[in-house]
Amino acid sequence: MRVEGKGGIVINTIQDQIYQAAVSASRPLITSHINSDGDAIGSQLALYGALTQLGRPVTIINTSPLPEVYCFLPHAEVIQHSESINGDFDVVFILDCADLNRVGKLAIPNRATVINIDHHYQGELFGNLNWCREEACSTAELVYELIKEWDIELNAAIATNIYTGILTDTGSFHFDNTSSQSLKLAAQLVDLGVNPRYVAEQLYENMPASTLKLLAYGLEEMELSAEGQVASLVITRKLLEQSGAKAWETDNFINYPKSLKGVRVAILFQQIGDDYYKVSMRSKGEVNVAQLAQKFNGGGHYHAAGCRIRGSLAEVKQRVVDLAHNYSAGL
Ligand code: AMP
Ligand code: MN
Ligand code: MN
Repeated sequence: MRVEGKGGIVINTIQDQIYQAAVSASRPLITSHINSDGDAIGSQLALYGALTQLGRPVTIINTSPLPEVYCFLPHAEVIQHSESINGDFDVVFILDCADLNRVGKLAIPNRATVINIDHHYQGELFGNLNWCREEACSTAELVYELIKEWDIELNAAIATNIYTGILTDTGSFHFDNTSSQSLKLAAQLVDLGVNPRYVAEQLYENMPASTLKLLAYGLEEMELSAEGQVASLVITRKLLEQSGAKAWETDNFINYPKSLKGVRVAILFQQIGDDYYKVSMRSKGEVNVAQLAQKFNGGGHYHAAGCRIRGSLAEVKQRVVDLAHNYSAGL
């Protein structure tokens, strides 16, 4: 893709520069954020499909294990898990990460070209090449925009991976990143061979019994405050143990407190260590939880954000819930 600038000067667009880096990569790596979600995995696998068609020997490594729910995705078996990523990679694609720390432990050669593809609110432009647009519904959409211009076949495998990124990051077309653009793109992907019923069944109707058991434990202790405007759920390691569930099984739990009438901010506290909590936030209406999460060095999007906080459960809860009260009251 080339754009004619003033005076007939040819400008290489960012998409073109990424394509040039991709076709000339001899050891490309694709990675994404810790606690991989559907957008991270779907985007990685779609890009993998495109790069392999270009004849590139692609490696995918994530610092969190692949949640079982995504094992149905085409090429999911190539995803490697390692607590720290290092290797002699020359082009490194970092997908769906608002900042470099979100990857986890990453050591790559200084000379490697880092390509950042992302759609987060105020994401950092940490790449040598940055293909970042907040208005994109998902990183998968941005991957699609890139690779549709490449000399490759957009097959059903690639389409299924892109579709999964869009479906999961729009909350199955519930959130306000559900636009005419994202719905049109979903329709195009169906034309390319995606089976929406199959994907939905794999994502939402295939859960282990332990998930529901854990949800029941969590819901029993759900707390409402600020006259029902803030709802919070706590999942401790003890509850995980009691239910036999794995950490990723809580992925959709926050939708339950959020679904309550009158709730403006929903919060999920998930214990990830002694005195260490992963905090997920969701909002409805005019409450920007990305700003709330930024107060704790996290980030995300207007209506969906997160952070990690150290402290006892009581402390962490109080700090977040107090601030959520102010946000929900528009302070
Ligand atoms: P989650 O609640 O984990 O589903 O994350 C919701 C959104 O917040 C996603 O877009 C994440 O990328 C973002 N997010 C979650 N945790 C963090 C964090 N510790 N730092 C920055 N962004 C985060
Ligand atoms: Mn993500
Ligand atoms: Mn995303």
